[in-house]
Amino acid sequence: MPELPEVESLTHFLRERAVGRTILGVDVVGFQALKTFDPPATALGGLTITGVARHGKFLDLDCDGLHLVIHLARAGWLRWREDLSGAKPVRPGKGPLAVRVRLAPDDEGSAPGFELTEAGTQKRLAVYVTRDPGEVPGIAALGPDPLDPSFTVAALKRILGGNRTQIKGLLRDQKVIAGIGNAYSDEVLHAARMSPFKIAAALTDAQIADLHEAIVTTLGEAVERAHGLAAKDLKAEKKSGLRVHNRAGQPCDVCGDTIREVSFADSSLQYCPTCQTGGKPLADRRLSRLLK
Ligand SMILES: [Zn+2]
Repeated sequence: MPELPEVESLTHFLRERAVGRTILGVDVVGFQALKTFDPPATALGGLTITGVARHGKFLDLDCDGLHLVIHLARAGWLRWREDLSGAKPVRPGKGPLAVRVRLAPDDEGSAPGFELTEAGTQKRLAVYVTRDPGEVPGIAALGPDPLDPSFTVAALKRILGGNRTQIKGLLRDQKVIAGIGNAYSDEVLHAARMSPFKIAAALTDAQIADLHEAIVTTLGEAVERAHGLAAKDLKAEKKSGLRVHNRAGQPCDVCGDTIREVSFADSSLQYCPTCQTGGKPLADRRLSRLLK
């Protein structure tokens, strides 16, 4: 799943390639992806892309004041195409293609564009056409952006204060902090040497400062690694930069202990016992239920 660093990189990527170009047309194939009906996607045809912004994990293309907002969700991706002039017309079907955005040809005659695809059967990719991105419910509810200078230790302390939630779930909650998902919350907690099950309100001032440092550093480094990469190379880069997420059974880079996993109904978390939980493995509820 693309999280803040990957969406930030896609934002830069599209800013360099798409800004200044006119949209020839937006073809919606996966109708379930389009969450708005007025204005219609056809209204984007003929407009020029004037800016690209990121809100949490949302991509926002400003097209002369009309916005194409994209949330890639768990299995969605953006694929840049250098030349769509020979591409077959899109037909609704079972393939991964959900939306194709065709851009006007440049002087050399190639007509680039991009496609939004979604693998798997769970269709969660979401596209909005709106005059005001703030009207997209997921954007309206976003918490502060951890790359924004206003995200200080004091701001994090205010967020955590009195919150009886486990820190892992809290970090992933877009209404609390924007842009962090399952992968980077594992990475942040490993960097902060903190148990994913720690209750937010129980953190000391020193632990809040450590957590803040881990959030800013982990995301900042991931943004730096992803910067300038082509859209197609981002997934591999994300994977290679992860120290605990999806690495259960492998040795921890920091201490050599074996990275462990806790499974839930539709997700899992990974952590290092020595670095994060005083050497004690956390109970895996799914596993203990199976063993009963
Ligand atoms: Zn470790």
